[in-house]
Amino acid sequence: MADNPMLKFVKTEQAYPEKRAADDRADDFLEISRSFIVDKAEEQASRCSQCGVPYCSTHCPLHNHIPDWLRLTAEGRLREAYELSNLTSTMPEICGRICPQDRLCEGNCVIEFSGHGAVTIGSVEKFVTDTAWKEGWVEPLVPGAARGQSVGVIGAGPAGLTTAEYLRVAGYDVHVYDRHDRAGGLLTYGIPGFKLEKDVVMRRIQRLKDGGIVFHESFEVGRDASLDALREKHDAILIATGVYKPRDIRAPGVGAPGVVKALDFLTASNKAGFGDAVPAHEDGSLLATGKNVVVIGGGDTAMDCVRTAIRQGAKSVKCLYRRDRENMPGSQREVANAEEEGVEFVWLTAPIAFEGTEHVTGVKVTRMRLGQPDASGRRAPEPDPGSEFSMDADLVIKALGYDPEELPKLFGSEDLSVTRWGTLRVDHKTMMTSVDGVFAAGDIVRGASLVVWAIRDGRDVTDHMHKYLKAKARAGARVAA
Ligand code: FAD
Ligand code: SF4
Ligand code: SF4
Repeated sequence: MADNPMLKFVKTEQAYPEKRAADDRADDFLEISRSFIVDKAEEQASRCSQCGVPYCSTHCPLHNHIPDWLRLTAEGRLREAYELSNLTSTMPEICGRICPQDRLCEGNCVIEFSGHGAVTIGSVEKFVTDTAWKEGWVEPLVPGAARGQSVGVIGAGPAGLTTAEYLRVAGYDVHVYDRHDRAGGLLTYGIPGFKLEKDVVMRRIQRLKDGGIVFHESFEVGRDASLDALREKHDAILIATGVYKPRDIRAPGVGAPGVVKALDFLTASNKAGFGDAVPAHEDGSLLATGKNVVVIGGGDTAMDCVRTAIRQGAKSVKCLYRRDRENMPGSQREVANAEEEGVEFVWLTAPIAFEGTEHVTGVKVTRMRLGQPDASGRRAPEPDPGSEFSMDADLVIKALGYDPEELPKLFGSEDLSVTRWGTLRVDHKTMMTSVDGVFAAGDIVRGASLVVWAIRDGRDVTDHMHKYLKAKARAGARVAA
């Protein structure tokens, strides 16, 4: 009997692709991990025990066929592995890079629980689709037979791009509107290059453009057209605008120059990475070079800011978080990467005032202690009286999360119904908003979430929009008859 290529977890150790040395990677914005070489990817894939009930897939929001493409990889059938992985995802190589796998597929891999270390699913997924791009196996987007109906997609992030791709394949004319000058949403202007190099995103977008999807960049709905004007132009609309209203800190001095918003800082850095002229880099207002930088927050945005500041050549970088390491929302993997690169974490600390008159010069902080669990189940932080102290800062970056913008007002459409959190209210059976023919997906419905959930929503909303559009076409045909 031929040797079983799988179940090698007992004798083959878990391995991730090698990381570049911290002092080397802290000088540039290239990804920090090298790629697997073929043998290593095959070897790591062969550790999978081919579970009958694969919890990895259950906990992947896309329910990717993980054991099947791992087996194909282990057998050296990379093209088939790619084709299978591509069936359920519009951007597997992006998810392989930036999904928090420890909370999703890998965190639920059974061999993790047996103490052998999870199969390194994300790294194999990235390897397989990167190989497909290199080998020319990624097919062009071929539009389906023209249906004579058109769709407007507002927002070119992962949710909007996924829907645009699937609807184009189904034969619709698809127009994507985005207020940025480049498509990609947070893949392009939020997430830094050291997690996701930009050519990986741009080649996806180019493929969509080549497939006939029309992109209207620097087009802001609410400024350049109202929602109703777009409804008149298209047979259905998707709103996939993400969440962009930053949460603020209420403390004296917070308005001082030098206290900036995380996404402004990251967007400026990503624009500079594209080679664009960035006035806020020229005048230094959004640049960390030579500065004492304090980042406030404990989520992934804060991690991206501290690591960007290191790469810009900050004098020192501190991250303040009001809970401790165990209770932070950001990924432990990212904290470890940041620490290796020279970031200092100041746990159980919160700002109470910003010092300086012309420009921020420091942050006054208080120590915190953890009290009883709050509604989220996490222990609520409370100030530790008498523990205040100050730290120097020339640049303070606020990274406390995002809420939705007021879309009904911005879009001039008071009929758009929102939840009490400001996210768009949809009928969960159809993903349609309160306005006929207007659907919504991604962060604007879920609140700040993950790329993989935006892709999942984009996939789901496509089915609902397709049904709606077919019914509309049939109704139109009946009227014409
Ligand atoms: P977005 O990606 O936000 O795209 C929305 C698009 O809509 C934008 O391009 C915006 O310009 C456009 N838009 C908004 N308003 C208008 C308007 N009025 N008119 C026209 N266009 C408009 N997730 C992960 O899985 N892994 C990570 O490592 C990760 N890192 C992150 C790092 C940062 C700094 C941030 C902020 C988020 C991160 N996330 C990460 C979360 C992830 O990026 C989002 O959950 C995901 O991008 C949401 O996709 P979306 O398509 O709903 O919205
Ligand atoms: Fe894991 Fe994300 Fe890939 Fe799913 S999409 S298999 S969760 S890395
Ligand atoms: Fe393989 Fe782990 Fe998934 Fe089981 S849970 S099929 S071992 S990757």
